Amino acid sequence: MNCKDTDKSIPRFFDGELEGRELTEFLKHVRNCSDCKEELSIYFLASEGIARLEEGSSFDLDKELESRLDEQEYKIKMRHSLKVAFYCMEFVLIIIILFILWYVL
Ligand SMILES: [Zn+2]
Repeated sequence: MNCKDTDKSIPRFFDGELEGRELTEFLKHVRNCSDCKEELSIYFLASEGIARLEEGSSFDLDKELESRLDEQEYKIKMRHSLKVAFYCMEFVLIIIILFILWYVL
């Protein structure tokens, strides 16, 4: 994902519309590109920060943005772990079936 694609994906990131590979690439780019990270901060401040300040609640932009990014990275990791666990179970199941077939037939 390049800077242009990342920039275009920022609103969709905050709307929770980025998924799977697109989300992974978005996060990877934002973590490594200071320009896009800054764009992300600006968008976050404009969309959420101002509303929060109007409510009168305190708002730590960097901390909140970091936790948003961490949350999404955790989601990707969990999904990946589940996939791996599922493939392992499938593998074990096939081995069990093959054993059963071997002894029965
Ligand atoms: Zn970039």
